[in-house]
Amino acid sequence: MGHHSFSGGVHPPDSKAQTASKAIENCPLPEELVLPLMMHIGAPASAVVAVGDRVLHGDLIAAPRGFVSAGIHASTSGEVIALEPRPHVSGSRLLSIVIRPDGEDRWAQGPGEADPNELSTDQLRDRIRDAGIVGLGGATFPTQVKLSPPEGKKIDTLLINGVECEPFLTADHRLMLEQGERILDGMEILRCLLAVDQVILGIEENKPDAIVAMRQICKGTSIEVCPLPVRYPQGAEKQLIFAACGREVPSGGLPMDVGVVVQNVATAASISDAVRYGRALTERICTVSGPAVAQPKNLRIRIGTPLTHLVEVCGGLKEEAAKILLGGPMMGMAQMNLAASATKGTSGLLVFGSSSLPKMLQGPCIRCGRCVSACPVRISPTTIAAYARLDMIDEAQQCHAMDCIECGCCTYTCPAALPLVQSVRHAKGAIVARRRKV
Ligand code: SF4
Ligand code: SF4
Repeated sequence: MGHHSFSGGVHPPDSKAQTASKAIENCPLPEELVLPLMMHIGAPASAVVAVGDRVLHGDLIAAPRGFVSAGIHASTSGEVIALEPRPHVSGSRLLSIVIRPDGEDRWAQGPGEADPNELSTDQLRDRIRDAGIVGLGGATFPTQVKLSPPEGKKIDTLLINGVECEPFLTADHRLMLEQGERILDGMEILRCLLAVDQVILGIEENKPDAIVAMRQICKGTSIEVCPLPVRYPQGAEKQLIFAACGREVPSGGLPMDVGVVVQNVATAASISDAVRYGRALTERICTVSGPAVAQPKNLRIRIGTPLTHLVEVCGGLKEEAAKILLGGPMMGMAQMNLAASATKGTSGLLVFGSSSLPKMLQGPCIRCGRCVSACPVRISPTTIAAYARLDMIDEAQQCHAMDCIECGCCTYTCPAALPLVQSVRHAKGAIVARRRKV
């Protein structure tokens, strides 16, 4: 099983040494928690609390709107002090619920504990939905949607993603080392829910301790821990499915088209909390790192924690921030400042000073073809980027721009420092906008 090699990819320095051996620390509660109503793929949630309301940890404060959406829960007990637009990780100001913690961190009663073996498939799925769980690897797709394959789609494999191929990030690594039982419990719950026989946990070979730990924990189960060669983007869904199962998801297709459901290790752990203990998703592990951070750490943070607080807890900045990223350096979202708050998708906060930024001058394309060989979905980034710059959207579409997974390999590899992924993303945006019009 496994060890197929996807095409393309790059080998960026993994830069994980600063935090890989640091145990997860509890991040102290900030003065206020800012929970935006939009922190998942799909329709934003709608607030069900008002200013002045008292809430308990785990209370539903915003309800999902529709099937592809996710509820939001108070990440501690306290008072709702504002319902107003606040700086959001997307760069705009979006409606957010602001909670002032009372310091007691009292949990709401919630749905209570349950034995997963005694719950029906629908009950399992409902508990996952009611806990507001989304993909914690960064994609933030509502989890219950992925667990509801349409009639006729046969799922035979559950693939758990413990790859964490983005440089700097070590949150999933630490979770596997320290809380492997939660992950195992979540995997077993998912196995029952999907009624699959085959469960594979994929981990990159640069985390040998996590491979050993998870093998130990999974002993006696039929879960296969599958070490994977280190290559970015090994953790991207389609690349992972090919590497671990040898199945190729067709262009425009979904993992379920080849019988696979992929879930991240942190998502699996949160599924255990939700199903077994009735606890909503109100926290996650986040790596705070980068050359400008005084004391890089892996933190257990409440959803809604201001980014400034995360930096303070890590001893502040050693030099002025020249570049701030949420997530890893390859796919992370650039931030102008630290004004936003951590969402369910915040796997990492990286801060770089100007001394550590590579000084690359943008030049014309020298037709070296490196971006083409690096592209894991086998499209031509340079061609699509050229069309995008000329607004030749039809041509970009014919070059399969929509297949781009925005992994950033092309930009990383380009000696002319061209912002290729931005251009391809621009083309994708234009194609989608045009489809909406017709
Ligand atoms: S074109 Fe898209 S998929 Fe291909 S390397 Fe660039 S970002 Fe990755
Ligand atoms: S890697 Fe850069 S320079 Fe080389 S072909 Fe692609 S766009 Fe041109």
